Amino acid sequence: MKKLIAANWKMNFTMAEAREFVSHILQDAKNYPDILDKAEFLICAPSVYLSALSKFSKEGVMTIGGQDCSFHGKGAYTGEISAEMLRDVGCTHVIVGHSERREYHGEQNDLIAGKAQSAYKNGIKAIICVGESLKERDAHLHKEVVKRQLLESVPKEATAENTVISYEPVWAIGTGKTPSPKDAGEMHNFIRALITKHYSGGENMRILYGGSMNSENAKELLSTPNVDGGLIGGASLNVDKFFAVAKCA
Ligand code: PEP
Repeated sequence: MKKLIAANWKMNFTMAEAREFVSHILQDAKNYPDILDKAEFLICAPSVYLSALSKFSKEGVMTIGGQDCSFHGKGAYTGEISAEMLRDVGCTHVIVGHSERREYHGEQNDLIAGKAQSAYKNGIKAIICVGESLKERDAHLHKEVVKRQLLESVPKEATAENTVISYEPVWAIGTGKTPSPKDAGEMHNFIRALITKHYSGGENMRILYGGSMNSENAKELLSTPNVDGGLIGGASLNVDKFFAVAKCA
């Protein structure tokens, strides 16, 4: 399975910077074609840029995704963006349940499951994020917390074709801290066992790691069993740093 090297730009970049970034990635991928045997890129951009960026999208090279979608199909939901709209502008994926949505917008597992179902209905893959806080890890509750988030946020109809899991320990996001390869491996193995038991095709479902991944730690993290790629925030804001992560794959 190719590693999925996914950027989560969050609320960053101008339109010109966003265009420049994706053109640069395509050029880099042309210059290092071997990289595409091992990795593919996904750019999860602010929604206002998706339409313009999806013109650069190439299956197996670089595709475009949203950072969130509505639980609703359509209607009077001011400011929301539906999964159908994301598909309409060429997105292949959408992130749901990112810890920043869980924390700043109070999103709960059932809402996140509804967003994932909305993505499925529209032929978009849901990247469903789970991960424990530092307090939970220190209290040795990390597996229990991740198990609950996973079983409640990943819908029954999830398959390897419509779902990607992203394990993102909240204490590692934007902090420069990462779990040791042993701890990351333990959690990814735990998630693999859970999804294999509960979801059809769970043995082939991608599990990304997210949380301060960069070109210094990516080699070790990406070679950990059951780490099938990365969801990258900070290091995705510089095209050379982001491409360097992919080179580690
Ligand atoms: C993220 O927010 O998904 C993330 C992984 O951020 P960072 O790489 O900056 O920790």
